[in-house]
Amino acid sequence: MKKLALILSCLMLFFVCGCQRDGATGEKASGEITVLTSFYPMYVATINITDGVEGVKVVNMTQPQTGCLHDYQLTTQDMSLIETADVMVVNGGGMESFLDKVIKQHPKLKLIDASKDIPLLDDNPHVWVSITNEIQQVKNIAAQLAEIDPKHKDQYEKNCADYVAKLWKLQGDMHKQLDGFAGKKIITFHEAFPYFAKEFNLEIAAVIDREPGTEPTPKELEETIGIIKSSGIKAVFTEPQYSSGAANTIAAETGAVVYELDPAVTGEAKPTAKDDYLKIMKKNAETLVKALAN
Ligand SMILES: [Zn+2]
Repeated sequence: MKKLALILSCLMLFFVCGCQRDGATGEKASGEITVLTSFYPMYVATINITDGVEGVKVVNMTQPQTGCLHDYQLTTQDMSLIETADVMVVNGGGMESFLDKVIKQHPKLKLIDASKDIPLLDDNPHVWVSITNEIQQVKNIAAQLAEIDPKHKDQYEKNCADYVAKLWKLQGDMHKQLDGFAGKKIITFHEAFPYFAKEFNLEIAAVIDREPGTEPTPKELEETIGIIKSSGIKAVFTEPQYSSGAANTIAAETGAVVYELDPAVTGEAKPTAKDDYLKIMKKNAETLVKALAN
């Protein structure tokens, strides 16, 4: 079924790009295209797709430790990066709340919506945290980039296929590691893992920090502690992007052990980040195996 979907989407990609071959491109007079990515997961996907493609520069807009863009305010530096970009890759799905402003101020900027046609769970924008959706995002970015820059279409398609193959392999390995834990309940830090949990049949029993960036209220903490005690949950998961204070409080109250899951949103935006998503997810799988085996 998945193979059929892959073949179909490749055919569609071919058709779409074929039609756009003579369309306008986002190229500058110099021939160089600057692709701006909104945040880290978009950067990692895009440098894989543009790997070795001459004249395409990928720049990440936000700082390495920014993390998710919940309530993110554009800085002066971000504005000037947008000013000089030809193309901007966004996660979409509501992650970039500043997007309307950007579209209004830069009507000529070509936008690539990585979440195009990906169904959202409760308007949650953290789609890239499941491997299935990450694969779809990579295909989406590659297809839209090939429309904007048809000259390098073949290279984008080849890079896309190579990276998708690595993601398929990762997904297969993770299923082997995690399928035995199907139905297990987990407590995560913020609302980043519903797509991941769905993919690996885990159940998110509670989220410690309901509003990213604000500390959970005593009432919310109390509720989470109650859920852990009543369902015998043995592990809580923090995220490297947030303080683990609340998780430690919960752990002290319940005896649950604190582990770390990474939604792959922070890191240095350098060409060496190419395999970061693969590495982070591999580590997440190992952490879950350790945490859920108890
Ligand atoms: Zn988030």
